[in-house]
Amino acid sequence: MNRRGFVSAALLGLSSKSGQAARNIAGGFVNDGFPLGHRLRDRKPGFAAPKQTIRIPAVIVGGGCAGLSAAWHLNRRGFRDFVLLEMERETGGNARWGQNEVSRYPWAAHYLPVANRESALVRELCTEIGLLKDGVWDERHLCFSPQERLYLHGRWQEGIEPEIAATRKDHDQYKKFDTLMHEARATGQFTKPLEASGGKISPDLSLDRINMREWLRRNGLDSEYLQWYVNYSCRDDYGSNLDTTSAWAGIHEFASREPEEKGPLTWPEGNGWIVERLKERVGKYLKASSPVYRISREGNQWKVWTEQTAYLADAVIWAAPTFLASYIVEGAHPKCDFVYSPWITANLTLRRMPDHAGDIAWDNVIYDSPSLGYVVATHMNLTTVQPESVWTYYWALVDQSPAAYRKLLLEKDWSYWRDLILADLTRAHRDIADCISRIDVMRLGHAMARPVPGFLGSPQRKRWIEGEPGLYYANSDLSGFSIFEEAQFRGVEAAKKVLRRLS
Ligand SMILES: Cc1cc2nc3c(=O)[nH]c(=O)nc-3n(C[C@H](O)[C@H](O)[C@H](O)COP(=O)(O)OP(=O)(O)OC[C@H]3O[C@@H](n4cnc5c(N)ncnc54)[C@H](O)[C@@H]3O)c2cc1C
Repeated sequence: MNRRGFVSAALLGLSSKSGQAARNIAGGFVNDGFPLGHRLRDRKPGFAAPKQTIRIPAVIVGGGCAGLSAAWHLNRRGFRDFVLLEMERETGGNARWGQNEVSRYPWAAHYLPVANRESALVRELCTEIGLLKDGVWDERHLCFSPQERLYLHGRWQEGIEPEIAATRKDHDQYKKFDTLMHEARATGQFTKPLEASGGKISPDLSLDRINMREWLRRNGLDSEYLQWYVNYSCRDDYGSNLDTTSAWAGIHEFASREPEEKGPLTWPEGNGWIVERLKERVGKYLKASSPVYRISREGNQWKVWTEQTAYLADAVIWAAPTFLASYIVEGAHPKCDFVYSPWITANLTLRRMPDHAGDIAWDNVIYDSPSLGYVVATHMNLTTVQPESVWTYYWALVDQSPAAYRKLLLEKDWSYWRDLILADLTRAHRDIADCISRIDVMRLGHAMARPVPGFLGSPQRKRWIEGEPGLYYANSDLSGFSIFEEAQFRGVEAAKKVLRRLS
């Protein structure tokens, strides 16, 4: 359904009895990052000059998973002369989490796939934080059953691949798609992280020149169900659709997984759980509420400016989103050409589960919805009977240009998103408005980088990855798509460069 159709449906839905229930729901926007982001971009109002200057060997900018992983690597190599500067009060970036009287819940990143052999770094971390012991994953952190379900033709089915009313043709095409993914996996190029082979296996750039829709067409895969499923996966993982995803990235989404993969690993607070384990190790280096508004050259050193302190450093890791560096880092490329997708996420507090909700899974998806559905924060709680819950609702805004959606995010008030969310969920849960006591909405204008066609071979991406002498970029967006494995890899790679420079 297009946006206009969807908005009409929302209004129609709310003209009924549930309209009153909707108006009783509390909530608002939370974690808005754009006022500070726009201030960094426009320098209006300006920033105060630092009160003091401190000499320090290294500075990390950005306390998301990339910055925390850089700090984790420096610390475990015994290097302790650095500071980690985070703009927000809460650390974790896209892996931030929240908590209320019912449960902890994620704000964005909510799971980590179990790491296979090539994800050596993730396995190292998982071993260190007790998730992996003697090659065996701790069952308490593996997603409990039922994991996923899909609302299709008026009822719920297990799993997200559409099954209800699937025809022989759909099944044949699922099979063909699986075979193609199996063959792709065997080439060894679809790894997590992307550069796991260290350049030994080159990616097939011809796949990066076309989009995923074209790849499906060339392979005769025109089943509506299969196309929905692949499109859903692109929206879910990359915040893009079949038209705006490089075929290489679209294939990576499936071919990088083991066929019999366990998991995923998940927690009520999502990847906030990992953030907390990292903070236990590197929290001592962290300075939150410290936006870096300028980085300038001082001879062979870099001066990192915050309103409290300026840091004169031999090496800097920029782990904040790369596009921001264009406004802040002296001498950086003036315009970053990465495409970022806008998202909204919302945490819905439920005083009770909807009637006839069925066997609620961890991840619950509605076929043909513009949203991605909801993940249940209380699914991993060990309490057996809990009428209340928190659902984290995800919506990658993919059908129009990112600029148009960013405008919408700024223009529309909270009740607009409340109504859209309720209209969407009402299709599967008629009484949902009566069940919810609170909806908190997070708006993300630049949530994650999109792997658009051409991203792999992009010369600008390569230049950012190379960085400058003493200044290294580390955000997961350098990989073209945003997942924990890439954030960790980029953070650790940048930390290694720092250690090489300083030694
Ligand atoms: C809705 C959503 C759902 C997701 N779900 C998953 C998932 O389930 N699993 C998964 O693996 N990945 C998921 N991701 C991807 C997630 O982005 C990555 O896993 C990872 O958390 C990205 O980390 P990062 O450090 O590269 O970037 P970010 O998380 O963007 O961190 C950048 C940090 O830099 C800070 N910063 C920015 N500017 C400045 C400045 N000037 N000074 C100081 N600090 C600054 C920011 O505040 C932020 O904390 C999801 C992303 C989104 C948006």
